[in-house]
Amino acid sequence: DESNPDRSVAFYSQDMNQGMQERMRIESGLRQALGNGELILYYQPKFEIGSDRIVGAEALVRWMHPTRGLVPPSEFIPLAETTGLIVQVGEWVLEQACAQAAIWQRAGLPPFRLAVNVSAREFTPALPVRVAETLARYQLDPSWLELEITESTLMHDFERVTAIMDRINQLGVALSLDDFGTGYSSLSYLKRFPIHTLKIDRSFTCGIPDDASDCAIAGTIISMAQQLGLRVIAEGVETLEQLAFLREAGCDEVQGYLYSKPVPALDFERCLRENWLL
Ligand code: C2E
Ligand code: CA
Ligand code: CA
Ligand code: CA
Repeated sequence: DESNPDRSVAFYSQDMNQGMQERMRIESGLRQALGNGELILYYQPKFEIGSDRIVGAEALVRWMHPTRGLVPPSEFIPLAETTGLIVQVGEWVLEQACAQAAIWQRAGLPPFRLAVNVSAREFTPALPVRVAETLARYQLDPSWLELEITESTLMHDFERVTAIMDRINQLGVALSLDDFGTGYSSLSYLKRFPIHTLKIDRSFTCGIPDDASDCAIAGTIISMAQQLGLRVIAEGVETLEQLAFLREAGCDEVQGYLYSKPVPALDFERCLRENWLL
């Protein structure tokens, strides 16, 4: 009986219970996954449009679940962000990314920047300290590392955020602003924060070339980046038409399925070697 308020309340709390149980199940599973080595990094190349060279890569985490197979980050990162477990996940990702980059650096591969995603909750004064320690431990050149942050990170206390960014910059590690254009913060932060690269969100790339607004937004971000002396990369590039538009607009780099999906370390390494043999 839908008109019975008690019944709908009962259903509602039962749903909530199930949602909560599911979340707790994922969280304890993720905690175990960290200990059991079930997390793995995939790497997606970033191409410089002018040279057609791989100049960077983004490390993207996956969970090799014993029964569910490869679990995408969308199914556990948002939850880890609310529970705070993202800090431990982030520690593991940075560690793993630096270990892998150091292997590539030592193997004499062409230098490129390996970008690691950093959530707002990880952006504390402890972060630059941990980055410095990790770089030192693996003797990794800081120019091999980049951190991708989002606008939500910038919306916290200005002095505090700038101090953390400055320390990261002093280490020689670049910062890029991910999912650019999707947040709500003011554009004035662009000149106030020490950021190297703007990353045009996939939701805009997606509408190129048919959606006039998406083209206008992407074009505007690119020319603004140029005028501010920032690099600009478009994510989610899937078609030659999108590439042609971005090239014409003066975008520096592209990342997306047109070139490669995120792939395991060995596949990325092969891709990098082939690209530099061209
Ligand atoms: P993101 O940082 O915006 O990463 C880009 C996402 O777009 C990745 O999804 C990537 O696989 C996907 N992608 C790249 N090119 C294309 C394309 O051409 N077409 C389409 N449809 N998709 C494309 P993924 O790997 O599932 O990651 C999703 C999100 O999870 C990331 O979004 C990021 O916010 C988060 N994430 C992943 N790894 C980490 C991590 O280590 N730490 C943190 N804090 N977040 C992470
Ligand atoms: Ca990213
Ligand atoms: Ca992104
Ligand atoms: Ca995105």
